Amino acid sequence: MTVRAIVPPATLGILGGGQLGRYAVMAAASMGYRTIVLDPDPSAPAGLLAHEHLVAADDDPDALRRLSFSCDVITTEFENPPAAALDELAASVVVAPSPAAVRIAQDRVAEKRFLGENGFPVGRYQVLEGDDPVVDEALVESGAIVKTARFGYDGKGQRSVSGVAETLAAWAELGGVACVVEERLALETELSVIVGRTPSGDVEAWPVAENRHVDGILDVSAVPAMVSPKLADRAVGLAMAIVDALAYVGVLAVELFVVDGELLVNELAPRPHNSGHWTLDASVTSQYEQQVRAVCGLGLGSTAMTTPAIAMVNLLGDLWEGGDPDWTVVLDDPNAKLHLYGKHEARPGRKMGHLTVTAPATNLAVARALELRAAVAP
Ligand code: ADP
Ligand code: MG
Repeated sequence: MTVRAIVPPATLGILGGGQLGRYAVMAAASMGYRTIVLDPDPSAPAGLLAHEHLVAADDDPDALRRLSFSCDVITTEFENPPAAALDELAASVVVAPSPAAVRIAQDRVAEKRFLGENGFPVGRYQVLEGDDPVVDEALVESGAIVKTARFGYDGKGQRSVSGVAETLAAWAELGGVACVVEERLALETELSVIVGRTPSGDVEAWPVAENRHVDGILDVSAVPAMVSPKLADRAVGLAMAIVDALAYVGVLAVELFVVDGELLVNELAPRPHNSGHWTLDASVTSQYEQQVRAVCGLGLGSTAMTTPAIAMVNLLGDLWEGGDPDWTVVLDDPNAKLHLYGKHEARPGRKMGHLTVTAPATNLAVARALELRAAVAP
């Protein structure tokens, strides 16, 4: 299928104004596109750099009308644009990824059903919904995690439980909304694969990232993953099959668990991903440029690495607890890059920025990145 490309100076609309959108804005702008961001926060990181920032709720009818009128293509930088808003936009303008794909990726129940029905491996789980759900005792007896189907991120909307009573109590505490209960898995490690796909079905993935989370929030991401080449190849193969099964257009992140040497799909993110920030500093094409290329129907850029290894560590608001960090040591390191998102209020757990370090090997990059982060704390 040939699709007419959307070329500069066309206008790209972005739903959501966080750091992922900020980098998409920068990538689009450097290619000569105009950008419009929709986000209710007047100081949203992407809104500060976009050509235009619509400060309105993501379902605001006037703002959506304005977007569909002014944009040639619309994409998203967060998981939760209202599906109805996407449908409305898609009636008059190109929306990528499609509302159907976003509907699946933004709902853990739909996501797990999609994965299961298409033969992709997922951990044991059950759905909790309705008035009086029956908990599978065998699933929860040796530890489980209750997760809301919608709106969870960075470990929010999750409760660690053990046994039926705790599971039901956690479900009630989460508001009795639709949830999944997952068996607590003994993770050997976590991986992610980020993949871009065009309307005509071309697909490119980056090398696999290995991720460490602390309290449900990504802490360190390193590339190439320190797993066997065979496992890494299988991870990439899975992600490519998933993006095809979704007939996806744009950039998709696939989070994977490694358990007993096998891969299980954890979740999908219908957008660039925190574990792909490194592509800004060590790939021929960043995930953000690829998002612009894919949704505009251009050819995909090379996902080759420009250094042997790179590590990224997140800079959370906690780092500001004793005052402003001193960035000098990062800025003085020729192999490090500092990224700050322009957020004013440093709350604990809030992603304020990240830093990356390139090195001859993954473990060296991780060690140096952690050392630099420890050195900036006031
Ligand atoms: P979020 O949308 O907040 O990223 P995830 O489902 O990815 O939610 O969970 C966040 C992190 O919590 C995972 O990356 C992993 O470290 C841990 N985790 C989630 N589910 C499980 C599980 N079933 N077993 C073990 N650890 C888990
Ligand atoms: Mg996750």
